[in-house]
Amino acid sequence: MIINIHAGHNPAGKVACGAVGLINESTENRRVKDEVISQLRELGHIVYDCTVDNGSGQSDVLNKIVAKCNAHAVDLDVSIHFNSGAADKKGNGKTTGVEVLVYSANSESKGTAEKVCTAVAELGFKNRGVKYRPNLRVLKSTKAPAMLVECCFVDDRDDVEKYDYFSMATAIVRGITGQAVQNVPETAPAGSCEETVVGPSGALYRVQVGAYSRRENADAMAEKLRRDGFDAFIVMA
Ligand SMILES: [Zn+2]
Repeated sequence: MIINIHAGHNPAGKVACGAVGLINESTENRRVKDEVISQLRELGHIVYDCTVDNGSGQSDVLNKIVAKCNAHAVDLDVSIHFNSGAADKKGNGKTTGVEVLVYSANSESKGTAEKVCTAVAELGFKNRGVKYRPNLRVLKSTKAPAMLVECCFVDDRDDVEKYDYFSMATAIVRGITGQAVQNVPETAPAGSCEETVVGPSGALYRVQVGAYSRRENADAMAEKLRRDGFDAFIVMA
């Protein structure tokens, strides 16, 4: 396939950046976007990154994204966002979940959008389903079939605890292509959960939760642990 993908909004901290809650939309959507791109390329697809980091305002960001998208003839335009409005910063034990937006019930991207919803829901997020948004610029003004993925909610503790960019990206790739990268780094089977305890005198206590061949996956796990209130650091084996 030939696919355009972009992270919505300007980068975090700039004008026209995304939603901010327990996590930051413009930070996380770029992580997810980068991982989706790297997995799609590993699977042999052609991918264009249409993310815009220098818009002068919301409308300018959208104009530039649409122009980048329409500069390539592709099978699919994918926009990565995170939702907000759940107002559940404490966590009520239930995720608010994933939804994917398409232009209309007749959109060619509808079937793929449903598959993305299903794949993300299999990670444990509530499936809010496919919704129709005829007024959204990236759906209305792009030439190829388009979809906007609202991965999960930045202001729902249950969503944030379940979320990590790597599994989110893997689910999106599976929804789009039906494929999964085989040799993607995952927690190594041996030594992936390791505990070393040396007696009270020579005290050495070691608890390890993961071993990764890609630095960014180690960073993501460390960040998840820190969010959950653990001290976490990365060592090279
Ligand atoms: Zn957004």
